[in-house]
Amino acid sequence: MVLFKEAATLSRYIHLQKQNGKKPGFVPTMGALHQGHLSLIKAARETNDLTVCSIFINPTQFNNPEDFKYYPVTIEKDIEALENSGCDVLFLPSVTEIYPPGYKAKHYDLGQIETVLEGAFRPGHFQGVCQVVDRLLEIVQPDELLLGQKDFQQCMVISKLLSLLHKDDQIKLSIIPTLREKSGLAMSSRNTRLDESQKQQATLLFKELSIIQTNLEKKELEVLKNEARVRLEENGFVVDYVEIAHTEDLRAAVTSQGKLVALVAASLGNVRLIDNLLLN
Ligand code: AMP
Repeated sequence: MVLFKEAATLSRYIHLQKQNGKKPGFVPTMGALHQGHLSLIKAARETNDLTVCSIFINPTQFNNPEDFKYYPVTIEKDIEALENSGCDVLFLPSVTEIYPPGYKAKHYDLGQIETVLEGAFRPGHFQGVCQVVDRLLEIVQPDELLLGQKDFQQCMVISKLLSLLHKDDQIKLSIIPTLREKSGLAMSSRNTRLDESQKQQATLLFKELSIIQTNLEKKELEVLKNEARVRLEENGFVVDYVEIAHTEDLRAAVTSQGKLVALVAASLGNVRLIDNLLLN
């Protein structure tokens, strides 16, 4: 695996590789890698000749300074895991490589998708995500971009970003299913900040999503959402939302008709977790 810290050097390298007929598949991450991230690397390797991973904890997407401060960093372990997974290129930039002096933050017109769920609870978060992904795509120029369904709304935002940047016909967006622990808990870098008993409690998120799925046709949606929220709160969670929404625009569903997804965001202590489950 080749490691790059400078954007310009990486761009030149990828340009050369593309001239030699290689197609880069790109997996952007914030590090503290787990098997979920590595499943994206595996998927990238299956469909591309050059697998590029970036590790960059993007300060502009953190609306909570504490979350940024305590975001886990395990860079040496990450490098080893990427090497063992057959990743070809790791981009490990500093903040000034991504946002050099004179960088002007654009505003991305994401429409209503930015105003709901994560957008409502994390103001500015998706603008920050678009800033970093816009820069990374400029640098890496991938043929394929691989994202995890774990961040369902983020996938929709980045799909919108690709069309805003007129890159949707050059870059294939692939959404990879969420990898879970045996307990059902969605793998997440933030799980490392949970103690053992919190990890046990955290399994309730997926259990509640599964209960919603099982009972979708049996109970009113409002009842399903409220029951899940109450059980989560009884078990120590501070709940931001439990929502049942249409997959195409994340509009809250009023009936069980159509393609729906259940989404949850809730905190245990100062660790905020999200998860989602396609319902039908
Ligand atoms: P992050 O490092 O959290 O920014 O995540 C980097 C990429 O990995 C994003 O596209 C995430 O959606 C994806 N990802 C995170 N957790 C998982 C998981 N459990 N399964 C599959 N993909 C994941």
